[in-house]
Formats: sequence, C-alpha cells, structure tokens
Amino acid sequence: MKPIVNKKKASLNYNRQFCFDKWNQEIKNKAYKFAESYKKFVSQNKTEREVVETLTDQLLSRGFKQINFTQKVSKKWQKLFLVNRHKALIMAIQGKQSTSTGVNIIVSHLDSPRLDLKLTPVYQKEHLAYFKTHYYGGIKTYQWTAIPLEIRGMVVTDMGKQVPVSIGAKQNDPIFMVSDLLPHLAEKQMELKLKEAIKGEDLNLLVGSISSVKKSDNRVKDKVLELLNKKYGIKEEDLISADLEIVPNGLARDVGFDASMISAYGQDDRVCAYTSFQSAMDIGQPEKTTILIFVDREEIGSYGNTGALSSFSKDFIASLLAGENLEFNENTLRDCLASSSAISADVTTAIDPNFATVSDSVTAVRMGAGVVIEKYTGGRGKGGSNEASAEYMAKMRQILNSNSQIVWQPASGIGKVDFRGGGTVALFFSQHNIDVVDMGVALFNMHAPFEISHKGDIYSAYLAFKQFLG
Ligand code: MN
Ligand code: MN
Repeated sequence: MKPIVNKKKASLNYNRQFCFDKWNQEIKNKAYKFAESYKKFVSQNKTEREVVETLTDQLLSRGFKQINFTQKVSKKWQKLFLVNRHKALIMAIQGKQSTSTGVNIIVSHLDSPRLDLKLTPVYQKEHLAYFKTHYYGGIKTYQWTAIPLEIRGMVVTDMGKQVPVSIGAKQNDPIFMVSDLLPHLAEKQMELKLKEAIKGEDLNLLVGSISSVKKSDNRVKDKVLELLNKKYGIKEEDLISADLEIVPNGLARDVGFDASMISAYGQDDRVCAYTSFQSAMDIGQPEKTTILIFVDREEIGSYGNTGALSSFSKDFIASLLAGENLEFNENTLRDCLASSSAISADVTTAIDPNFATVSDSVTAVRMGAGVVIEKYTGGRGKGGSNEASAEYMAKMRQILNSNSQIVWQPASGIGKVDFRGGGTVALFFSQHNIDVVDMGVALFNMHAPFEISHKGDIYSAYLAFKQFLG
C-alpha cells in the first residue's frame, strides 16, 4: 500500500503545502471527481432560490423532514430542515449527545453579486427595448458589459400565483446584454476612472428591437410585454412583485492545461455552500448536533429576514432544544450557544501575481495550498471583524491536523494592512456568544461574472468541513 499522503518531514518551520504536491494519485482523482459534481451544481444554481430548491430536493430524498416556523419538534427529531421564504435554509442532524451540550454550525451564504431588475424596468429608446437594473453586492460595473447574461427568478402575480422565470440557460434561448462603447469612440471614456466609465445607472439590459403591430408611442416596449405575456402570462405591473436577477450566461469550466482550476459564476459563496452541504451528507450520525445554515443577503450586509442578522437561525435551534428538553427555558438556548462551535464558511482571496501589490507576500494565501482558515477579516486595524481566539484556533488546528489528507493554510485577513478588506457573517454569529472562525476557499477575481477557484482547495474544504462535523 502506498501512503495516503506524501509524508512531510518534521520541521520547525511552518510551510504552506500545495494539495497536488501532497496528495497521492488516488486523492487527486477524488478531488477531480468531486469538482465535476460541483461544476454541475454551480452551473445550474445561479440564484439563492435555485440553490434552496436543489437542497430541498436533496434533503427530502435523503429522509430529512421539512418543518415550518410554528411546528413543534419531537424528542427524537433526527434529521430536519426549514426553508425561510424560498431564499435561506437551515438544516440539522441530531447528535449522539443532547443538543443542549452545544452544536457544530457551518454557515455559508447563497446570494452572489448580480444585477437585479428595477420594479417598472421596461422602457424604449431609439427603437430598442431595455430593462433598468440595480446592481446587488459589490461589483466592478465595467465587468458586466459586453458579456452574455440570463434572467432568472420569480414573478408573483397579485393573485399570488408564482411564475418561475429562466431565460438564457438553454442552448436555443436568447441571452441579454449590456452594451459597451466601441474603442474607436471611447477615447474620453478610457480616460475616466474605472468606477466612472460605466455607471451603475447605465447598466441597462438590451431586451428587444422589434415593434408590436399595435399603434402606440412605445411599440418596441409593447412587443417585449406581448412576448412576456405570451411566455409567462404576466403583465407589466406583475414585474413590481418579482425577484428577477440578471446573472452571467455560461457553464462552469476547467481552467488551465492541467484543468486544475474552475471558472464559474457565483462561487462566492456557493463553493462553501456546496462543500459544507456534501460534508454533512457524508458524516452519518455525528457526536454533536450538526447545524448547517445557508443564508441570503450576505453581499449587502446580511440585513433582511433571510440574512444572518435575522433571528431565524436562533429560533430554529431553540425549537430543537424545546423538542429535546421538556424543561426548556431561555437559559437552555443561552447555554447551548455558549458551548457551540461555528465555522463561517466563505470565500477569501489568494495572492494574484497580476495584482501582487495588494497582498503581503509573507503571509498571503496561495491558490491551491488548501482550505483557508482566517483568524480575522475586516479592514483598518481589524475593524468590523470577528477574531477567533488562540484557543479556538488551536482547536481548529487539531481538527484539521487529525486528517492528513486535509491541506489547509492560514490567512491574516484579506490583503495588506490598511487596504480596504472585507467581512463575512462570522461577526453576526459571534454576537450570540458562539466561537466562530472563518474558513473557506480562495478565489481569483471574486465578484466578477466568472470567478476562479482551485480543485485542490475545494476538495480540502469538503474534507475539512467533514472533519469538523465528524
Ligand atoms: Mn462571500
Ligand atoms: Mn462576496
């Protein structure tokens, strides 16, 4: 038998290791295989609603019982989940120990940067029809022009009828586009700052050019409304009650001659949603109760009833405790949370040689050097971040080191000191007096229409989450 991993010599030095240096062929193959199913997942699920639907199907087929907010939980509840308003999901696997002794939580987010439609978005100009958009999350506006886009989401009529919309994914579907200026006439544009060259307000989606036979001042707009009515049975006012998202068209693809990396839309944070979900599916009955939380709204600050600042996660854990413990009172929840451990599973960045000056090369994360454990995030003097304690970091090291297949690396925040930085939902969960640490996969060009991840890091994340829940 070959060793599972190429053993490293005991050394006084800490050295980052690269997954594909450390792993033998068998694990490398597993990582590539895992990447195939992940690619399918991110290609198909481009909105938070779509992920929730996919996870719901998976959970029901694996014997999880769906409950709602008011439902009482039985003493032996075993495997449960709850969907919050189609956009967030929380699931639990009952541990061998009582839930009151503390739970293991992994939280990731399902929303990704995109363009949303405004409420009365359709207009006509120069015999062309457009949709007005309002971007969601932190985007570089210029990256969303001149690329094929899809429309996905849900329209709800005033009679409450849900009309799912998805145009652009199928081979024969049309796609949509925000046009950019030809270089021949762009001399003035090219002199502008990047953030001014394409303004948020100018991200108007081209949706039609043929006029209706009806006589009106807006015949091209009318034609678009006719087509929407024919295909979906909706009228213009219905767009007021809709969650319609403009997302990049195209499937996840391998990157590089060695096909070691993946390009896909929405890897922030569906890469952590997927790896954590798969890890929970593969653990059997854990020692401690397992809670996986998939939140929405992270990209805009976690506000809203489906975001991490909503009480739904805490309420769900309270209902598990109430089911298990007949003498449930408010202290039961407080004590449970204080003894719980959490991972905020979200993406981070790695040093990109094309933009190396924003990273500190001594401490920076390397693409392909495994799942990243980040003691703190934030910016400007660690502002606005949770910071895991030395004790909690030590506990995590012990977990990660207990499986020699897991390749992991530490991160000292995002980028150089006093560069802007970023945050995750970690701080919102630490507010409940839970130990939380950030862990996840490094990306290149995060928040771009297509982000790059590494297959070694993705498989390491899966293994690390599994070990944590174990
Ligand atoms: Mn994220
Ligand atoms: Mn993000």
